[in-house]
Amino acid sequence: MRYLNWGLFWISVYLGLVIFPCLVMFYGKMPGGNGFWWDLSMVLGFAATSMMAIMFFLTARFKRAALPFGVDIIYYFHKQIAILFLLFVLSHPLILIVSEPVVLEMLKPRLINRYMAAGIVSLATIIFIMISSLWRKQFGIHYDNWRYVHVFLSASAFLLALVHIEGVGNYIATPEKRIVWGAIMACWFLLLLYIRLVKPISLLRKPYEVVNVSGERGSAYTLDITPVGHPGIRFMPGQFVWLTIWSSPFSMREHPFSISSSAEQQSKLGFTIKELGDFTRRIKDVSGGQRVYVDGPYGAFSIDRQDDSPGFVFVAGGIGIAPIMSMLRTLSDRKDKRRHLLFFAGANLNRLTFYEELIDLKKKLSLKIVFVLEMPDLNWQGEKGFLTSEIFNRHLSENKHDLEYFICGPVPMIHLVEKILHRLGVPLHHLHSELFDFV
Ligand SMILES: Cc1cc2nc3c(=O)[nH]c(=O)nc-3n(C[C@H](O)[C@H](O)[C@H](O)COP(=O)(O)OP(=O)(O)OC[C@H]3O[C@@H](n4cnc5c(N)ncnc54)[C@H](O)[C@@H]3O)c2cc1C
Repeated sequence: MRYLNWGLFWISVYLGLVIFPCLVMFYGKMPGGNGFWWDLSMVLGFAATSMMAIMFFLTARFKRAALPFGVDIIYYFHKQIAILFLLFVLSHPLILIVSEPVVLEMLKPRLINRYMAAGIVSLATIIFIMISSLWRKQFGIHYDNWRYVHVFLSASAFLLALVHIEGVGNYIATPEKRIVWGAIMACWFLLLLYIRLVKPISLLRKPYEVVNVSGERGSAYTLDITPVGHPGIRFMPGQFVWLTIWSSPFSMREHPFSISSSAEQQSKLGFTIKELGDFTRRIKDVSGGQRVYVDGPYGAFSIDRQDDSPGFVFVAGGIGIAPIMSMLRTLSDRKDKRRHLLFFAGANLNRLTFYEELIDLKKKLSLKIVFVLEMPDLNWQGEKGFLTSEIFNRHLSENKHDLEYFICGPVPMIHLVEKILHRLGVPLHHLHSELFDFV
């Protein structure tokens, strides 16, 4: 309930911040005589600019605002709301052109002024940002390069939009309206200062160092780090952080990883990282004493948010076991007595990360484990193939509707498992998933 109330509060703040500047625009003296369509176009333009300003706040990872939803949901919202934002941005000139074709005259090269030009360049930049973000993988754009360009172009598009409003917006001509837009601009600059300067400095002052790197089954490595000169972060099992290794926190070269160690041992953080690309392939070469910076913890994927559940069901695929391992280790350290169930899907036993430790955990916890192997050895007696409703039906207990479910693995697996469990009657609000893929 606490999270729900805070969630509703932040949603209201979001809507308020989008709507407020539009209301201010209509307050007091208005540039009259332009008609409904003209005003509608202006409202959409103002709303889009407010939305753009708030997008920087959405991705600034403010812990208090992110807590009720989880930062991954906020990133997802950012991605989805950007589509509505694009519709607003496109509608703004289209409505003007259709309702007042004379506007096109102002766009002729010899008549266009720099404010209109700023608006057009801003619009083109926004379209480019949207296309490169929605289809980044299809275009083969490397994540780090995409992120640099995304941040730079978004800031440029926003500034150009402000120039456009300043020049053509007689809607902000009165002093109180100028104050509102001045405040929006000031907040935005302060935010930029916070993200690019204050936050990196605070991370720099709280470094960690690597104490151990060890190989795991399934092309994964566990990296253990410990805080240097500070007590470290306090996290809930299942949460994740952004890790910066080999560069400074100013560099924007950070990668999200779930904490795989127990939340009952906060003086050490463990991450279990599967080799995938440039960054993750270098983890095995990290040497002891290497400086590491940790931004976090983030995420709502945690048993500690569902503490009154009679038991937990975990569903892991591949390296999706990492946050689940943190929860299992924590339950074990807490000597939890409830009955838990783990479905762990992978290619074969040799590729199941933490296999030995999981078998060991069965002795410490009331834990049943169902391994589901895609390519098992010939003598394998357990579940085979992919996770199906038959497999869940065979192993879930009668009280399956009362339990809380934590699902982590490849994105298609997560969607499939959510569908199956929902079809089996598990309420949607009992399903908690962690996607290892933001963009
Ligand atoms: C919340 C969360 C928790 C995660 N936990 C784990 C974990 O415990 N163990 C694990 O092995 N992996 C985890 N991942 C995935 C891990 O972050 C990526 O595999 C890693 O960043 C890939 O980097 P790369 O340069 O090696 O690969 P690349 O080939 O460069 O990237 C592969 C894909 O990973 C994603 N990615 C790359 N860099 C970033 C970045 N800086 N930020 C966000 N996404 C990026 C992109 O979708 C990219 O297409 C997690 C991801 C998220 C979002």
